[in-house]
Amino acid sequence: MPDLTGDAVAYLDHAATTPVRPEALAALTEELAQVGNPSSQHTSGRRARRVVEESREAIAAALGVRAGDVVLTSGGTEADNLAVLGLYRARRAEDASRTRVLASAVEHHAVLDPVDHLGEREGADVGWLPVDDLGRVDLGWLKSELADNAERIALVTVMWANNEVGTIQPVAEAAALCAEHGIPFHSDAVQAVGSLPVDASAVDSLALSGHKTGGPVGVGALVLRRGLSPVPLAFGGGQEREIRSGTVDAAGFAALAAAVTASMADMDLRTARVRGLRDALVDGVLGSVDDVVRNGDPEHSLPGIAHLTFAGCEGDSLLLLLDAVGVECSRGSACSAGVPQPSHVLLAMGMDAATARGSLRFSLGWSSTERDVDRLLDALPAAVARARRARSRR
Ligand code: PLP
Repeated sequence: MPDLTGDAVAYLDHAATTPVRPEALAALTEELAQVGNPSSQHTSGRRARRVVEESREAIAAALGVRAGDVVLTSGGTEADNLAVLGLYRARRAEDASRTRVLASAVEHHAVLDPVDHLGEREGADVGWLPVDDLGRVDLGWLKSELADNAERIALVTVMWANNEVGTIQPVAEAAALCAEHGIPFHSDAVQAVGSLPVDASAVDSLALSGHKTGGPVGVGALVLRRGLSPVPLAFGGGQEREIRSGTVDAAGFAALAAAVTASMADMDLRTARVRGLRDALVDGVLGSVDDVVRNGDPEHSLPGIAHLTFAGCEGDSLLLLLDAVGVECSRGSACSAGVPQPSHVLLAMGMDAATARGSLRFSLGWSSTERDVDRLLDALPAAVARARRARSRR
């Protein structure tokens, strides 16, 4: 494995962003050295257009859909917003009684916040799909909602796999239930693409992001079944089937395609190696530190995520103590105005707020090594002891 962070750092935050893979870097730099707007009709424009269309085909092939289904975006956040806001507005414009939106309670803010916006500003009646203590959505709840309210439901959205605890959702089953009623089903697959063999044809709409798959930041895609026409968020040149105006980023798209293709090609070997490292990390932590709980579904989980709760600790203190000795990880949930908030994901899984605040996410990826895990295991017992002393003094 290339040693991207040198001896100084054990990088255990791949779910936040993973290093750019060499294949993607090569595609990006090669295309950045060229000129040509893919919408221009001259030779340079047509060359850039060819790069875009070949990239679209490669992404579609990797995800099991048709090239025409792939819409380039500026990342996962835009793809999710376009799906949630755009599909809701389109469905409601067809039938004003379609105001109900169902979303899992553990969505990333890229879905959560547009859904909240629809509830607060656009008259949507939002239903949050509950999850169990492993973070898996309750399909029984979805079934009874569909039985009672199908004609009022504008869309349903359930993420493919959770970015905090790593739990994989029964997306194909949920999508099939919605399909029986002709209700569009969106899935945020930002954490799943590149880590799981994602079949995008199982859903109507799917978001992916470059920098979670070994591609660059600032590029992503919405995979959209033909026949769905979300109301655009931006208007302009009419690129990308008039769904997403703006000059198409040929270099970013080429790099995204290279990353997705490479991550599909080495999926089995790489994810087996990453899962082995993750399991060694979890076993090592549970064996060396008392009162630690692993969160998420141990059976159906992303290979690279270990989410742990340390009793009697503030996650933030522990994160900074580890950072000071060169181990980088994440709380997995956001701060609000600088104040650490308990994760909405953990709360939805039934954890109380104080316990939830003692949680950290360690995430591994294609460039992770045993040395990263060893660095954490060396540093953790002392850091936890210090963080516990600090909390007990409060
Ligand atoms: N959805 C999930 C599940 C994520 O983990 C992230 C990023 O953390 C996003 C969406 C946002 O993607 P992007 O950073 O490309 O906007």
